[in-house]
Amino acid sequence: MLRFVDTATESIDPYVDLVPAEQLGHVRELARELRGARILQLNATSYGGGVAELLNSLVPLEKGLGLDVQWGVMVAEPSFFAFTKRLHNGLQGAPQFEVTKDEVEAYMRHNTHVAEEIRGKYDIVIVHDPQPAPVQLLARDTTAKWIWRVHIDLSAYNRDAWAFLEERIEGYDAFVFTMPEFVPKPLDQSRVHCFAPAIDPLSPKNIALPADLRDRIVRWTGVQLDRPILTQVSRFDPWKDPLGVIRVYRELREKHKGLQLALLGSMALDDPEGWSIYDKITQVVEGDPEIHVASNFTGIGNLEVNAFQSASDVVIQKSIREGFGLIVSETLWKGTPIVAGRTGGIPMQLSDGEGGFLVSREEDWVPRIDALLSDGAEAQRIGGLGRERVRQHFLITRLLEDELGLMAGVRSAPASTATPS
Ligand code: UDP
Repeated sequence: MLRFVDTATESIDPYVDLVPAEQLGHVRELARELRGARILQLNATSYGGGVAELLNSLVPLEKGLGLDVQWGVMVAEPSFFAFTKRLHNGLQGAPQFEVTKDEVEAYMRHNTHVAEEIRGKYDIVIVHDPQPAPVQLLARDTTAKWIWRVHIDLSAYNRDAWAFLEERIEGYDAFVFTMPEFVPKPLDQSRVHCFAPAIDPLSPKNIALPADLRDRIVRWTGVQLDRPILTQVSRFDPWKDPLGVIRVYRELREKHKGLQLALLGSMALDDPEGWSIYDKITQVVEGDPEIHVASNFTGIGNLEVNAFQSASDVVIQKSIREGFGLIVSETLWKGTPIVAGRTGGIPMQLSDGEGGFLVSREEDWVPRIDALLSDGAEAQRIGGLGRERVRQHFLITRLLEDELGLMAGVRSAPASTATPS
């Protein structure tokens, strides 16, 4: 089943203060080419995680450009999402990937329902990530153009997981990856496109907050502003290593008395694994008043994340794999230094000494963060250097330009390569 997300309609005009006017002009031109096309953005959750974050900004701007676009979210039972999270983990390189007959049947059944709902209704369908990936195959709708947009890090995929998915995505007109390193070799390269996600500088998550409001929001969570703050903001997910963050923090606290840790995590509709990770975290931090664990279930929303990304002394992103890591650009945009794993899409956004530091070896986390906590002026200087790269490469209008350009290209290409089975 499919549920539609009610979004705003926003103009791109206010972005003129932040990005080149030619870029906005090109976006408007591409939008004119796409007028009249019925477009569907399809994913598996309307909140929690980067894809929902992206669509929450992209869809209103696409509507504001006069496009006929809808955002549909697939609705399925929890066991479906338990399986698709395992598939996600396999694609990111988890060593084990096994699938039962019942899981395959449920995966295809839910996608069949979605395929039946959308068949014949759209001219362009952008399908995000593996959960709804088989809808193109199942819809057998060769009049529409189909784009599969994958946001995860496929650089070291588990072969069984990829083989499972590959036969279900072969018919797409275009595949979009965040970077060339993620493109599986067997895929038809002529249909492959690479462009990175982006952040919306005017969304509640990223807009500049008045200092008194920012401080009040942080204090409201129980974190004190007169003592240093280390923060990680991420889904509760093994690939984000929240237990590793706690270990690093506890080591740092021996030197930096009074250091507080804020672990802000969101639960996503399509990520049931979040709750078991959350339980592990709460066991590990029980009785430790300096570690603050909060989530969208305890009132952490866009403004709260914004306030923490702005007010923290250092942000940590201890990712083991990362498709892109919107969180990195969000932090850099606020001028806050970040220490992040050298993995997936993170090094595109950050280089050593420019916005923060990249870490490859476990033993480097503590010294890197220690250096920033020990020299506030230098930390501020380094943090301030990250914003310009985000402005040039990772703001939402650049993503609009890429996505609209792809849609226009795919729409004018000869008949779909999709072969009904
Ligand atoms: N996020 C949030 N609240 C939280 C944790 C995360 O709003 O408690 C948002 C975060 O600000 C970012 C997105 O979720 O916009 C995470 O995207 P990212 O690309 O970093 O990682 P993903 O979850 O897609 O793997």
